[in-house]
Amino acid sequence: MKIVRNRLLPIGRRYSAINLFGILFVKPGVRLSDQLLRHETIHTRQMRELLYLPFYLMYVAEWLWHLVRLRGDTYRAYLAISFEREAYLNQNDTAYLASRRRFAPLRRNAD
Ligand SMILES: [Zn+2]
Repeated sequence: MKIVRNRLLPIGRRYSAINLFGILFVKPGVRLSDQLLRHETIHTRQMRELLYLPFYLMYVAEWLWHLVRLRGDTYRAYLAISFEREAYLNQNDTAYLASRRRFAPLRRNAD
């Protein structure tokens, strides 16, 4: 994963890194833990299987939906996005990426 240290991205104090098309933008001083790298690698897998643009459209649409549902709480809306839920739920599991099923965030009720 290509990593770019910078002060501009991601926007917002609560966020330490953002993955744009498989390139990880990280704020200065943020430690690149195995957990963080696994979280972002999960996002890269999600993007690839959805061919990038649909991933971002679905991501933003879901965030907006949760934002309305959660009455403007931006951080809780972010945590409720299915792509984030998969990444946070599995970022500590060292075996997850090897066994991950394709389209995992979309399968929640399917199996
Ligand atoms: Zn994430």
